[in-house]
Formats: sequence, C-alpha cells, structure tokens
Amino acid sequence: MTQTITVLPGDGIGPEVTAGAVQVLKTVFHLYNHDVRFVEKLIGGAAIDAEGTPLPESTVSQCAASDAVLLGAVGGPKWDRQSMKVRPEQGLLGIRKALGLFANLRPVSAYKPLLDASPLKREKVENVNFVIVRELTGGLYFGKPSERRGQNQEEVVDTLAYSKQEIERVVEKAFQLAEKRRHKLTSVDKANVLESSRMWREVVDRTAGRHPKVEVNHLLVDSTAMQLIVNPGQFDVIVTENMFGDILSDEASVITGSLGMLPSASLRSDSLGLYEPVHGSAPDIAGQGKANPLAAILSAALLLRYSLDMDEEAALIEQAVDEVLNSGCHTADLKLNTEQSVQLDTAGMTEKVIETIKRIAHVTGGAPSI
Ligand code: NAD
Repeated sequence: MTQTITVLPGDGIGPEVTAGAVQVLKTVFHLYNHDVRFVEKLIGGAAIDAEGTPLPESTVSQCAASDAVLLGAVGGPKWDRQSMKVRPEQGLLGIRKALGLFANLRPVSAYKPLLDASPLKREKVENVNFVIVRELTGGLYFGKPSERRGQNQEEVVDTLAYSKQEIERVVEKAFQLAEKRRHKLTSVDKANVLESSRMWREVVDRTAGRHPKVEVNHLLVDSTAMQLIVNPGQFDVIVTENMFGDILSDEASVITGSLGMLPSASLRSDSLGLYEPVHGSAPDIAGQGKANPLAAILSAALLLRYSLDMDEEAALIEQAVDEVLNSGCHTADLKLNTEQSVQLDTAGMTEKVIETIKRIAHVTGGAPSI
C-alpha cells in the first residue's frame, strides 16, 4: 500500500532544508523499495501570501489523511508587523492542534566532531543521548481562566489544569519510548508544591506497573535543570508537563552546541506524527545556500522510526549523518574540532549524506534492492 508524507516547507530556509530531507527520504525509499508518495502543501507566511490564512483547510485535510507530516519552519520579518491579524506561527500551533498531537519529542545527542561547540566541558557532553518528551496540549499555556482581575486589574491569574487522561497518554508514550531505548525514564515534576504534579506522579507510578523493564525515577524540575548541566549523560527519556518541558528542552538544546542539528517530533496515540527541525526560518540566511539541512534530515529519520515503523532505515540516515560529520564535512554554522574540514552548502551537505547512505547500504548489504 502506498504511504503518504505531506511536506509543509513553510518560510525562510524551510523550503531549502525540507528539500534536502525529501531527497534523503527518496533515496532511502528507493534503496528499500518502499512505495511512499510526497504531497506538498502551504503553511505559515507562504500560505498567508497565497491564500490569506496561515493554515488553509486543504493543508489540514491533507495532513490528516497522510501517514506523516514533514515541516520546515514558519515566520519572518515580512509577516512580523504588529498590525497583521494573521501570523505565520498560527499555522504551526493550528496544525498541531488540528492533528491532536500531544507529545513533543526532542532528542539531544552528542556528535564527536562538535563536542567543542558545547558551552559545557567536553567530558560532560561526550555521552549525552537522551530524549525529552513534553506534554503539548495542557497545563499553564492552555489554562482557563488566564486573565487580569480586580478594579484596577492589579491581580492576575493563570491556571494549570490537567485531566488524568491527558497525563496518562503522554506518560504511556514516554514509557513506550524508554522500552525502545535504554529502559530508563525520568519523570519531572514539582510534586512538593503542585497538586497537578502529585497526580502526575501517581499516573507515572501506575503506568510503571505495565512496563516492568523500565527503571523509573522522579526528579523535581529545579533539580533537573541543574542535573542537565552537571551530568546530562545520566538521562535516557525525560517526561514532563508542558511548561517544564518547554523550558528544559530549550536548556537541553544548547548542550550539544548546535541549533542546526536538532530534530523534533510531535506525536499522538496512533502513528501519525509531525516532524520538524527545532530551528526557525532563519531569514538572515534564507536563499543563500547556507542553511544546515541536518536537523531536517534527522527529523526525517524520526519520521521513519515513529510514523512508518522503519527503524533500520532511520538508523541508516543517522549513521550517515554521523559519518559525514566525522569525515570533516560541515555547513557554515558548525564549528568542527577536526584537523581537516570541508565546508559545504545546503545542497552539498544533502548530497554528501545521500552518497554516504548509499555507501553504507552497499557495504552492509542492508538495503534489499542493492
Ligand atoms: P532561528 O532558529 O530561525 O535562527 C537563529 C539563528 O540560528 C540565526 O542566526 C540563523 O541563521 C541560525 N540558524 C537557524 N537554523 C539554521 C540552520 N539550519 N542552518 C544554519 N543556521 C541556522 O530563530 P529566530 O532568528 O529567532 O527566528 C527567525 C524566524 O523563525 C522568526 O520569524 C521566528 O518566529 C521563526 N521561528 C519559527 C520556528 C518554527 O517554525 N518552528 C521556530 C523558531 C522560530
């Protein structure tokens, strides 16, 4: 049966990096004889320009009917005016909501040639390989009421609300992920203060009963913020609520020192997911061939793993990216600590990854069609 990936290139460097990721995916599908088609749709500023809305209905229906969605980035100075009623970011929030995506995954792992780009000492970063699972649909960012009160509006209230079911589904997702990885789950909360965190803990403990192979520990969010700097190598899967996850995942993203390398996935209970680089549309370098396509390419690897159940193919892409960096190839944003380095543009880096994928597949005989 033909599977469908909807591609939402978006704005700025979005189209450049998604083009690279699509080329890589096409190479892998060809090597493994997979029947997958791509459909491109508008989102963000590009959709505002063409249709007056950042999220056209046809984009939503196409995404909903596909097996996975690959997104570039949205936004840019052209659509930044305060007076604009519609903004590109509404497209991004809208598509996550329309698809009911509730778990945001951000893997963080160290690449040897990039170790010196980290603000942390080399030995702290060497063994970093973890994933943050952030709840996306509840908590403070969606609390009602959220308003100013009092005669002179001198009081303010924001509400942190969660239903048990909202906690259960994201925690279950995180346990499933831990089972596929190193079987270690850290649940992050503020149970010494917040009632919502105490319910979170209860759900985690109950869910642990169904996953006896996963070792669970609870950590307070303030302590986690410290541990991510002191000993980031200790983590495997971290699961937490929306706002804690927002803050911790940005903290974690600088550990490996390179925005252009960070992929992400937004998932729900079935296999449909949305995959995008963590970086934005980088208007300062758009159209110049300077964009690093690796975060988008690594997002494509996550797409294979989580939406298309193609673990081997995902690992092939990740191995190729690793080998390309180890060989000294890099884009302008990456500072490599290797003796001989070769700077490539967006197309050159994409080509190098594709070349390496073909070589690995050929050597291992892993891909059936070769
Ligand atoms: P940004 O991530 O776009 O750029 C930050 C810096 O990193 C810039 O100097 C940029 O050149 C560089 N950079 C980012 N990705 C790169 C890549 N792949 N290769 C090489 N260099 C890269 O963040 P920003 O400048 O704060 O935001 C720019 C626009 O992107 C804004 O309109 C913002 O709203 C939007 N944005 C979108 C998303 C998204 O679509 N998910 C996320 C963040 C920001």
